[in-house]
Amino acid sequence: MEQNNKARILVAGSGPAGLIAALGFAEAGFAVTLVGPEATTSDGRTTALMNPSLKVLERLGVLDEIRPQAAPLKVMRIVDATRRLIRSPTVTFRASEIGEEQFGLNIPNNILIPVLAKAVAAHPGIEWRKSMVETWRLDAAQAHANLADGSEVSASLAVAADGRLSPAREAAGIRASARPYPQSALVLNFSHRSEHGFISTEFHTETGPFTQVPLPGKRSSLVWVVKPETARELAALDDAALSARVEEQMQSMLGRVSVEPGRQVYPLSAASPGRFAQNRVALVGEAAHVFPPIGAQGLNLGIRDIDDLIGIASENRDDPGSRLSLAAYDTRRRPDILARSSAVNLLNMSLLSNMLPAQLARSAGLNALGSFAPLRAFFMREGLRPGSGFRALTGDFRKQASR
Ligand SMILES: Cc1cc2nc3c(=O)[nH]c(=O)nc-3n(C[C@H](O)[C@H](O)[C@H](O)COP(=O)(O)OP(=O)(O)OC[C@H]3O[C@@H](n4cnc5c(N)ncnc54)[C@H](O)[C@@H]3O)c2cc1C
Repeated sequence: MEQNNKARILVAGSGPAGLIAALGFAEAGFAVTLVGPEATTSDGRTTALMNPSLKVLERLGVLDEIRPQAAPLKVMRIVDATRRLIRSPTVTFRASEIGEEQFGLNIPNNILIPVLAKAVAAHPGIEWRKSMVETWRLDAAQAHANLADGSEVSASLAVAADGRLSPAREAAGIRASARPYPQSALVLNFSHRSEHGFISTEFHTETGPFTQVPLPGKRSSLVWVVKPETARELAALDDAALSARVEEQMQSMLGRVSVEPGRQVYPLSAASPGRFAQNRVALVGEAAHVFPPIGAQGLNLGIRDIDDLIGIASENRDDPGSRLSLAAYDTRRRPDILARSSAVNLLNMSLLSNMLPAQLARSAGLNALGSFAPLRAFFMREGLRPGSGFRALTGDFRKQASR
């Protein structure tokens, strides 16, 4: 324990998960050291964060600065754009159906990350060492990190927010099974002639989803999942040719398209660790789960990791990295992470699969969602926060029983 009676938390990694973890732990009254490089400002992606994640950003005092530069997501549509024998009907989810104004906000990463980094730099409870952890030493009482700048940090709990390869995870002896997908995501932003009406549309194709998500004004972001060689070919097209391909893929739904400068290609993969905490290290964000960008799940799940970890650490303030505290974290996160990861991986596999049973299952599921409003409402609530769909259902049953 530190002289000032606050247990120290070491957060490794300065991506969105690390910055949010550092702010959250400091706000919860812990002494925080963040280790990671200067936050990036060159990430052209956007992140759709759902309402429960936005509540966390609000609590951390950063939402007001982000909101004007983000677009609300009011309607989400899934369109089957495969040319297969069995195709699914279009399913439309409206936030108003579950009494919400919006599902969330689509935020450019080059707004989200700098705003978080500014708040971290200004927080008196956070010491940010802009270096890398070179080696870890994890003993029974503490986690020790040797940094590239020659300094050392010791803490009761090390939060591994150091990304998909997570050196902290490896040091803790946690093995992760990783597998690459034969897919890459082409990511870009574009302007369009018609209003998007705050509707996001996910076109399901044989190579993966093509997802348009609204940005402020007549602009949208795009994540287009294709074969790696197609991604390279598309990224090499000139602006006019690529704009035409994007417009064609959307069946001119938003009128004339003009792609903006800045295309990025991300190879897709999945990874799941065997445990979510061990030997004074707790995994959050992509250190804890990697899956394809379908249905805007990744950072939303990462924020739930952080929220749960802070809750458990706050119940174990004397020693938040104790065996007991880490066991509680592993138990708490396991169902949510496994359910989300397997749902996304299954949906992705069903798109890639040429097998009739997989297509049938996907089509039957989407059919049921499209035609049965209570089921749709259940999935929308579950999509926002696990357990809330069940709570709403039991609430409805109770109301009916008391009538
Ligand atoms: C195309 C695409 C679209 C996506 N869209 C969405 C979306 O709409 N909604 C959503 O919720 N999610 C989305 N995601 C997922 C989301 O982007 C990730 O969940 C998120 O970026 C993961 O953040 P992270 O901080 O865990 O990891 P990273 O951003 O990888 O950060 C890891 C950090 O750790 C640092 N680091 C590594 N090693 C060390 C070390 N030894 N010492 C110190 N620091 C170290 C790195 O420098 C880096 O700063 C999308 C992903 C992709 C690929």
